[in-house]
Amino acid sequence: MVALDGPAGTGKSTVAKRVAMALDARYLDTGSMYRAIALAVLRAGVDPTDEDKVVAVADGAVLVVGTDPQKPGITLDGDDVAAEIRGPEVSLAVSPVSATKHVRELLVAQQRAIIADALDHVGGIVVEGRDIGTVVSPDAPLKVYLTASADARAARRTKQDSAAGRASTVDAALADVQRRDKYDSSRAVSPMMAADDAVVLDNTDLDLAGTIDALIGLVEQRGLRVTG
Ligand code: C5P
Repeated sequence: MVALDGPAGTGKSTVAKRVAMALDARYLDTGSMYRAIALAVLRAGVDPTDEDKVVAVADGAVLVVGTDPQKPGITLDGDDVAAEIRGPEVSLAVSPVSATKHVRELLVAQQRAIIADALDHVGGIVVEGRDIGTVVSPDAPLKVYLTASADARAARRTKQDSAAGRASTVDAALADVQRRDKYDSSRAVSPMMAADDAVVLDNTDLDLAGTIDALIGLVEQRGLRVTG
């Protein structure tokens, strides 16, 4: 298993999917799970900072997350929400929702079950998030913390948003990236950070292909290649 953590805009999702495909492994995007709960909170008309109400919504939400790196997919109460969870409303609401202790406990338990199932049935999984190496899977044989300068990450986010048809400017993306970095790394429960034994990879000056190569190199170094 590969634990891939780091802030927004590092290309983490694309890299994690490509590495999973190269290894014939499964793929889990834990951020999509926090985003789906944030969407459930918004749909319920609940204030994302109102902890008790957020907990009630999270307890009642039914999430189904796909682990096929070619087409992961996610449903909330039976609804396909893969596109909607990437919108700006959810991006604003997700940090306070993901800072809620009970929400994290709930999702970490689901994530561990998905990982155990993938390891049993497929033999490998690449998991991306903020706390995979520190909390979800502290025993992961390879932990990578992918990072880049805030400017580079904001520029990539803007490109991604335009490609997906969402309105975006570099200034707005930079503000969002910086706001979420601050929130995610200063929260009391499972703050975003590199595990002590993580390999820190700064890809400010690396393109996607270079980042994927670096990751695959690390996987091979650890003898983790999964075949079949
Ligand atoms: O990775 P993505 O940007 O989609 O994650 C959205 C948000 O979900 C993050 O800003 C963070 O607040 C939260 N998150 C988290 N722990 C994870 C994955 C994501 O708190 N393992």
